[in-house]
Amino acid sequence: MEEKINNFMAQVEAKNPNEPEFIQAVREFAETVIPFIAAERKYDGKHLLLRITEPERTITFRVTWVDDKGEIRVNRGFRIQMNSAIGPYKGGIRFHNSVNLSVLKFLAFEQVFKNSLTTLPMGGGKGGSDFDPQGKSDAEVMRFCQSFMTELCRHIGPEIDVPAGDIGVGSREIGYLFGQYKRIRNEFTGVLTGKGIAYGGSLIRPEATGYGVVYFTEQMLRTIGQEIKGKTVAISGFGNVAWGVALKINELGGKILTISGPDGYIYDADGISGEKVDYMLEMRASGDNRAEMYVEKYPNAVFHKGKSVWEVKADIAIPCATQNELHEADAKKLIENGTICITEAANMPCTLDAIKYILSKKVLYAPGKAANAGGVAASGLEMTQNSIRLNWSSEEVDHRLKDIMVGIHNQCKKYGTDETGFVDYVKGANIAGFVKVADAMLAQGVV
Ligand code: GLU
Repeated sequence: MEEKINNFMAQVEAKNPNEPEFIQAVREFAETVIPFIAAERKYDGKHLLLRITEPERTITFRVTWVDDKGEIRVNRGFRIQMNSAIGPYKGGIRFHNSVNLSVLKFLAFEQVFKNSLTTLPMGGGKGGSDFDPQGKSDAEVMRFCQSFMTELCRHIGPEIDVPAGDIGVGSREIGYLFGQYKRIRNEFTGVLTGKGIAYGGSLIRPEATGYGVVYFTEQMLRTIGQEIKGKTVAISGFGNVAWGVALKINELGGKILTISGPDGYIYDADGISGEKVDYMLEMRASGDNRAEMYVEKYPNAVFHKGKSVWEVKADIAIPCATQNELHEADAKKLIENGTICITEAANMPCTLDAIKYILSKKVLYAPGKAANAGGVAASGLEMTQNSIRLNWSSEEVDHRLKDIMVGIHNQCKKYGTDETGFVDYVKGANIAGFVKVADAMLAQGVV
């Protein structure tokens, strides 16, 4: 089996040189799915993984815009249309200076199976630009978004490809992108999700990724007879996902001890709750990415400059920042300190070595493609509301979101439980996500 996996990976690596993040995401998937395929006649010999790892379409384009000083600026725009077997391409847009083809291909690849797990009819895609909204004026962000959408609009549509937000793309950017799409195409449609409530957005969409992560964590803890109430929680980042996680953990009686930024992490022994959680929104809106801002407002907390947040003692760890932020040494430290559950809220925050170590210690661990699917699930619910031209209440959306997260947990258990009763959520999520996409691809022939 090892040889089969290595042969497959050698082919993917040869086709995609210099794409380490993409290769990492594919390897994590292949290690659990190739043995499954080999044992299933229906899937074996159909080259499904070779087909799935090749994007259906990759679009790259120039984005030119003029900054506030009158200088002409040039960025690169991308949209990866990865797989449309089960629905129109769906996935966020990331604006960050680390964006490149490898990062977006890994994100698009994971999105295919994440979207499949939600059970909603959404294919997988991802897009973005190496443009960084940090430190840019509103007018600069608007001009950039307008230029980006001027090209992107010819490749997307409510039945073709429906982008949304991700790192660096929040409600402000979605508003500007939507406005430009509507102006050029002269149509008011649900072409983007994460829209403002005034123009077709869904209640609970901003909170949904974080809420979903906590609902999933609740289900995982239940398998070992535990609950969130009374648990301490370490989280990283302070963006939209971290905010949603903090809201729900507090609601369920847990205590958030940390947040972090590229400059270091904050430890607040009193817990980050109430107005302190609201302050995370202000920190984000300030356009400054320093976590240190928090101690300027709440001096009782301690700022650990340049340190990794994963050195703290907490019952639950929830990485909410970005890819490869939790390494094997961090995983060792967390487990030494008594962490019983690690839930990925960001996309691929744990390295492959970290995941192997965590699973070898039989600690509860959920990959992002299962645990953070609540965001795109709420996007799917926004698409439904747009199609039927109705707005659902918060309760209705939240109820559906919770059902979807419980459903994902059940699918992971179905495909990931071993003889001892331990649930390998990596295996469970990969196989459950794969089965639906593979069945649709087989039914549709060689396309
Ligand atoms: N960017 C989010 C994700 O990683 C949401 C995508 C969406 O809502 O389409 O799943």
